[in-house]
Amino acid sequence: MASGSGRFGFWIPVSPIIALIAAGLPMMAALASPAEAARRSRWQPRTAPVVQPVPLPMPRPPEAPPAATAVPSPPAPAASPVAPAPPAPAPKPEEAAPPAGAATAACLDRLRELGVRFTPAPVPAPASGTCAIATPVRLESLDLGAAQMLDLPDRPLVDCPFAETLALFARDLLAPLARSQFETRLTRLGTGPGFECRPRNRVAGARISAHGQGRAIDIAWLGLADSRRIVIERPADEAQRRFIAAIRRAACGWFTTVLGPGSNAAHADHLHFDREPRGRNGESRLCE
Ligand SMILES: [Zn+2]
Repeated sequence: MASGSGRFGFWIPVSPIIALIAAGLPMMAALASPAEAARRSRWQPRTAPVVQPVPLPMPRPPEAPPAATAVPSPPAPAASPVAPAPPAPAPKPEEAAPPAGAATAACLDRLRELGVRFTPAPVPAPASGTCAIATPVRLESLDLGAAQMLDLPDRPLVDCPFAETLALFARDLLAPLARSQFETRLTRLGTGPGFECRPRNRVAGARISAHGQGRAIDIAWLGLADSRRIVIERPADEAQRRFIAAIRRAACGWFTTVLGPGSNAAHADHLHFDREPRGRNGESRLCE
């Protein structure tokens, strides 16, 4: 059936294209510069009507006087707004200074609103020039909602924005998933120290790990209210294996880097989550 109408099939799509090209020719001629239009007119009589607009400049000269009078008036009002402009830029840079402290305070406020228990921590000594935390906080527990808290016995030291992401991840994913999978509450989380000034994968000479900016956490185990413990390196059964696989996959929605057993030898016994900026907008992902 389709092959039978093949010969005519060419004409159906082609004819509209020809129509478009035909319609586009006058448009292209109209867009051409006067010089080019004039050049075309020597050997393309069809473009002659397009050149006709040339006489238009003729009537304009008489209108020039009113146009000239209109020109000076716009500059005058334009000059008046320019006057207040100089003082405006001056205060702007002064206002730019506070945002750094304001951002810090705002983040700490958001952390409190999330019910996170923490203590603002001193900035770690600069063991290396490339390791630093902008707003260090030492986490004690995260609020899972419904008056349930998630204890962090390792008391990790992280940057405030990272703590915010971790709190949301625990409340919105870890807790409900653990309850649905094991029919009990998630109560404890093994996170490691958080901040650690070291190269990636502990390889000498490599870039500083996201741990060096307090933007990473290493989940080694999760504790349930019935005293069961889910160890990332050694899941006890299929249910635990599915749970670990689920949180590892879903974590990619909260963090920019997700690594774990199978990624490499350095991550054989824990899930590494970090918020290292990736890509042009900082939100690209590396999830393995
Ligand atoms: Zn890590």
